[in-house]
Amino acid sequence: MKFAEIAQFFERMEGTTKRLELTEILVELLKNTPSDVISKVVYLIQGKIRPNFEGVELGIAEKLAIKSISKSAGIPIKKIEDAYRLGGDLGITAANVLKEKTQTTFSTENITLERVYDTLFKIANLEGKRSQDMKIRYISSLLNDATTNEAKFILKILLGTLRLGIAENTLIVALAIAFTGEKDNRELIENAYNVSSDLGHVSEVVATQGIDGIKKFEISVFSPVRPMLADRVKSEEEAVKKFQTEFAAEYKLDGERAQIHKKGNEIVIFSRSLEKITQYYPDIVEKIPNVLICDDCILEAEVVAMNENTGDFLPFQELMHRRRKYKIEKAVSDYPITVNFFDVLYYDGNKTIELPYLERRRILTKIVKEDRFAKMIPMSIIKNEGEVLEVLENSINSGCEGLMLKMPQSPYKAGMRGSNWLKLKREYQNELGDSLDLIVVGAFFGKGRRTGRYGTLLLSTYDSENDTFPSICKVGTGFTDESLDQLYQILSPTVTIKKNSRVESDMDADVWFDPNLVIEIVASEITLSPIHKTAYDVIRKNSGIALRFPKFTGKIRTEKHIEDASTDEEVIALYKSQKKSI
Ligand code: AMP
Repeated sequence: MKFAEIAQFFERMEGTTKRLELTEILVELLKNTPSDVISKVVYLIQGKIRPNFEGVELGIAEKLAIKSISKSAGIPIKKIEDAYRLGGDLGITAANVLKEKTQTTFSTENITLERVYDTLFKIANLEGKRSQDMKIRYISSLLNDATTNEAKFILKILLGTLRLGIAENTLIVALAIAFTGEKDNRELIENAYNVSSDLGHVSEVVATQGIDGIKKFEISVFSPVRPMLADRVKSEEEAVKKFQTEFAAEYKLDGERAQIHKKGNEIVIFSRSLEKITQYYPDIVEKIPNVLICDDCILEAEVVAMNENTGDFLPFQELMHRRRKYKIEKAVSDYPITVNFFDVLYYDGNKTIELPYLERRRILTKIVKEDRFAKMIPMSIIKNEGEVLEVLENSINSGCEGLMLKMPQSPYKAGMRGSNWLKLKREYQNELGDSLDLIVVGAFFGKGRRTGRYGTLLLSTYDSENDTFPSICKVGTGFTDESLDQLYQILSPTVTIKKNSRVESDMDADVWFDPNLVIEIVASEITLSPIHKTAYDVIRKNSGIALRFPKFTGKIRTEKHIEDASTDEEVIALYKSQKKSI
């Protein structure tokens, strides 16, 4: 397949914001794509080359892209940087710069989708000393043979700035229409995606085997299942009102969610955002096969750091010491953990996700042979507010964050946030009540003790409808010397020349970052503000929503993707519930 064809489709998609039209163009593209390359096209549409859980990242820095353009066009770096500062996107800048060049050369080669994809794949897998040079060579050679339109999209994919406005849902609907002729089949395709987290693979199945293939699609060990998520409630009254029946209360532990896949003695662990985290937990890999009474399974657990002497749970941050490349054995002995199971999604040929919660819990109890390292999360069946308060108190006294309340009859709804699971945290009982997970998009340099580091951070929510990051507050409190250092180390390599096009803010930050990092914030109140952009014009014309007295809690949430950060809708809901309680 010619890459020019794909670039033309991308161009058309960029030109419309109408969902229906976008879906139509997408359907046309999918129908025009041979089934042996459909998965590659589906990944590229999403701006990636493999499903997220494989961790194949392009991660090209702007500087490297600029060097490659310079090499291909024979134009000095400085000139490209200047053009980029004036113009919008680096992809477009490249297209303009290269236009001058292609007008003077004779012809360009026809590049194929396969060539672009394979080159991107090679670039993503390059490591080591000479990798930068090799990357420049690969990119400039692609650009040499590319038309201006192709070059624009190649660069956008490389830089991670391709925004076709296509949410996963739109892609799923388009797959249903293109390969089954019926939009209503979207649910079946969505289910397949929810249990495999791989839309490329799902598209291959539906393109080659139609809806029958999708109906037979099975959950399978080593393909991560998209996690079921919980709605939040502010009080025990709210929980009791929502359930209207007796329900299960489990402790909510403050650790890292781990989806543990086991086949024989082989173990793979996925995080909440479905990244492979097996390498950080060699102790789980070693010990877990001995405590599970089954051959194959997919289980969910909360991994929590603990004090081995007292047996107390330690806060989530302790686990982050394990996020290192080298000397992991030392981290394992310095930061011991326990694995606390709470769900079973599959075991020995049995799909359990469709079973009611209580049945899954019964099976889980049979599979897990508890010991000091592996435990079941405590659970009790309760029905009234007094009982909720009693369990909440016990959970907090044992160092937990609060409760997860679960509907006894509910199946495991992969990939969904809903009211079958409710979370009730201790902080919900006061002030704003909740913490927010916000994205760091910019910073202001510090003074005094904070010189040379970022003294104040500019934070954004995630606007999932528009796929943008509107600013919600500046935060300068709650930092320790250690956290300021740590944040500087994480953030400084992600500084960009100018504000990312998905960030919405009128502020004049000293530095801008590639949105990458999520941190946890508490605040005393949610207010309306003309300065910030979250939920702009939603509650009041010319106003956004802002946080009053925001404070960093100390939690750097590296396990969360930016798309998992608090959304505009969540903040609007909090604003409204705050109004009600006043
Ligand atoms: P939050 O990250 O605040 O949205 O809370 C949801 C997270 O709580 C899940 O992703 C799990 O990592 C964690 N968690 C702790 N205890 C439980 C439990 N008993 N059941 C489900 N999730 C739990």
